[in-house]
Amino acid sequence: MAKEGYNAFKMAQEQFDRVADELELDEGTREFLRNPHREYHFTIPVKMDDGHIKIFKGFRVQHNDARGPSKGGIRFHPQETIDTVRALAMWMTWKCAVSDIPLGGGKGGIICDPHDLSSNEQQQLCRGWVRQVAQNIGPVQDVPAPDVMTNAQHMIWMMDEYESIYGGRYPGIITGKPVELGGSLGRTEATGYGVVYMVREALKEMNIDIEKTSASVQGFGNVARYAADLYIEYGGTVVSVSSWDQADKKAYSFYKKDGIDLKELLNITDRFGSIDKKKAEKLGYEILPGDDWLTHKVDILIPAALENAITKDTVKDIKENVKLIVCGANGPITPEADDILDKRGVIVIPDFLANAGGVVCSYFEQVQSNQNYYWTKEEVLGKLDNKMTDAFYKVWELSQRKKIRVQDAAYMIAISRVVEACKLRGWI
Ligand code: NAD
Repeated sequence: MAKEGYNAFKMAQEQFDRVADELELDEGTREFLRNPHREYHFTIPVKMDDGHIKIFKGFRVQHNDARGPSKGGIRFHPQETIDTVRALAMWMTWKCAVSDIPLGGGKGGIICDPHDLSSNEQQQLCRGWVRQVAQNIGPVQDVPAPDVMTNAQHMIWMMDEYESIYGGRYPGIITGKPVELGGSLGRTEATGYGVVYMVREALKEMNIDIEKTSASVQGFGNVARYAADLYIEYGGTVVSVSSWDQADKKAYSFYKKDGIDLKELLNITDRFGSIDKKKAEKLGYEILPGDDWLTHKVDILIPAALENAITKDTVKDIKENVKLIVCGANGPITPEADDILDKRGVIVIPDFLANAGGVVCSYFEQVQSNQNYYWTKEEVLGKLDNKMTDAFYKVWELSQRKKIRVQDAAYMIAISRVVEACKLRGWI
């Protein structure tokens, strides 16, 4: 979603260019990889509950599928733009590559606000989206998943539409399904837990005891709440989370000095991840402006809401205590802010490594769906932990050896793997 003067795709390309220079990639390879391989733009007519027809705009972008079928979520958001979807598709390519799963990068979106749509209208939108791209997605082509403001129900409507078109059962067409219909146990927790596996390993390498640390989290949706959950289980203290208030059309932070109580906050949170301010106040939370989440004296920041959360303007509000930032959201730090954080010696675990838990688990879901045999939650989370920890150390070792940022090391590994796959295929 675009903010004025901010273009996620330009930012993704700038990040790529920097590493392309390091890797001395030739012009053709750069041109190929800094743009999507394919993209689809279309309109979706929906008969609204009051009988009128409303036209929505939809996208699917497949950035690169040299390493395997494209993989990536579908977002519902009123400010969705094609450039944001392009950036996210590109980040998915690097994410799948850095976590070493045999998938490429894709992303999709519909410009809409599900807050204003009935369940019936949302179902039509999901089915309409699939009808427009059914030829170009599939278990061996491109496998969508949930993302911002989409959930398991949306995925099932989409799967059902795809299966109606092709006349069969194709659980491997989509991931993020409910467990009753081919979803993987552990998928709901996967992204947030993956973020905390990164926190855990980074702190080990920094010789910091996790039990003595505190964190502030931006957001209180799927990623934020499971990150908070596991981090608290490991003994850390979350002092603040934040959420979007639909009525006020702005975000608020919810602060409790001695640490939030996840259960009590979840009890007063709606299905979009918005916390009820009045009820939170009664429970002893300080209700602060949305950007305050990054101003607390904590050891760790976990941006887990939207992109562009830490910019050259807001980075100055981050206190000296902060030693580690683990990016749960996609694109939460602008390149200028990244440079400033690097100079300050803050370790930043980039989004496409830190939040790869979701796609790794989606890959596990695909594997299970395709073989029609399902694993226990312990098996899934154990395999997830191994995969994420492995990815962390490959990146960490390179960053230590070359004395470069964790983000640059992650990019070098990911881009090299994708370049290699393109070369082996004879594409470049
Ligand atoms: P979600 O819709 O479940 O939750 C989003 C949360 O952010 C909600 O609590 C909302 O109230 C809050 N929010 C919205 N605008 C805000 C603002 N301006 N300030 C503070 N809070 C705000 O979404 P999610 O699935 O948790 O995804 C969050 C981020 O993580 C996104 O960038 C998404 O692309 C990324 N991500 C998600 C997954 C996944 O598996 N869900 C995987 C990888 C990356």
